[in-house]
Amino acid sequence: MTQNSIEKALAYYQMNYDHLHQELLALLRIPSVSAASDREPDIKKAAEFLVNKLDALGFKNSKAYPTSRHPIIYSEYITSPEKPTILLYGHYDVQPPDPLDQWETDPFEPQLRDDYLYARGASDMKGQIWATICALEAILQTSDLPVNIKFLIEGEEEIGSPSLDTFLEEHKSMLACDLVLNPDAGMLAPDKPTITYALRGLAYFELRLYGPAADLHSGAFGGVVDNPANVLSKVIAGMHDEQGRVTLPGFYDAVRTISTEESNELSKLGMDEQFFKEIAHVPALAGEEGFTPVERVGARPTLDVNGLYAGYIEKGAKTIIPAYAMAKISTRLVPDQDPNDIHESLKKYLEKNVPETIRWELDLMSGAPAYITEVQAPGVEHFKAALKATWGVEPLKKREGGSIPVATAMKEILGVDSIITGFGLPDDQIHSPNERLHMPTHKKGIEALIRFFVSY
Ligand SMILES: [Zn+2]
Repeated sequence: MTQNSIEKALAYYQMNYDHLHQELLALLRIPSVSAASDREPDIKKAAEFLVNKLDALGFKNSKAYPTSRHPIIYSEYITSPEKPTILLYGHYDVQPPDPLDQWETDPFEPQLRDDYLYARGASDMKGQIWATICALEAILQTSDLPVNIKFLIEGEEEIGSPSLDTFLEEHKSMLACDLVLNPDAGMLAPDKPTITYALRGLAYFELRLYGPAADLHSGAFGGVVDNPANVLSKVIAGMHDEQGRVTLPGFYDAVRTISTEESNELSKLGMDEQFFKEIAHVPALAGEEGFTPVERVGARPTLDVNGLYAGYIEKGAKTIIPAYAMAKISTRLVPDQDPNDIHESLKKYLEKNVPETIRWELDLMSGAPAYITEVQAPGVEHFKAALKATWGVEPLKKREGGSIPVATAMKEILGVDSIITGFGLPDDQIHSPNERLHMPTHKKGIEALIRFFVSY
């Protein structure tokens, strides 16, 4: 029965590949950039597009719920209350396409080159949402769906999901489910299906340093008035020691140690020095001494400057002591660090290290703790089996260096674990120019999703 359903659904997908692909292209053409205020009509258009598609598939109660910014889509296909319920998470918003001149083709006019489909959002994550929709259409058109499906697709992921927690709180019973499938992470390589069991958290800061009330002549005042740009550089340089460790007081206090067993598991992923050098196109790696690259990026916390501003940055020279300097600083956190503790720790560091000549302000712009599945989430075995049947290899289990705060929110508010996975690849150039989706992997992903949904 199951095997028969899989074959029928796969045959449907093959037969209907054209219209499904055309619809994906139409979705990718909508520039649903959540960060750009002038893209609001496009955001709405993308939400409507998905609501209409789910309606057409026979989903019920499909609606784009308004929030203070961009709507959240909910839609459901309930076959029986006795069946397990899978909540599919996705986001239809995309990163801004800038810098535009570095794109080989228009970011919102998808183009197929070799095995890749190039477009903003192709991999992160319209293509991933589309994979779940293709799998469900193929099943619904050819047999019965043995599970209940609920979709939650937000439009604010790329701006930090400001409306999501409230929405989860307010719609707990509507969203009740047994597990969340979140395909917003990816896999390690086209032949390495991957499930992510831990994510790093985030604490993001803006630090502003003020010196004189206005820019001053550096000849008339250099030597008596302190320079916020000099001080900011020194303060930032002091945030790491010679061993690549972060020097903020108590920064590592809550960090969970990596067991030997886990360390061995992680070493099997093949994410070695060469792997990162090739992907990042760098001559050598940096980081904390005493840990392997895969540990440093997944199981150890880090601190990075994400942006710097001070003084005169236009062409030519201008001899000033700037009035102001600013840095955006992010820390990536691991279990069991708390973003608020890290905020306190950075404050303490600044109190100690910024001289009295300079006034400073620090804002915590966003914060989310790390996420780790403590026990085997329900459904993981089904999902692993589906990946294995599709790729013919045992799926890898990895830690992800990035943050998916939604997984933490689902756990804390709905009380459910997430299967964090996806069919994007490390070189998909997400958030960068020339974002792309590897179509052969995408197709396999759809096959795996079909196998997963009918496996119950
Ligand atoms: Zn994403």
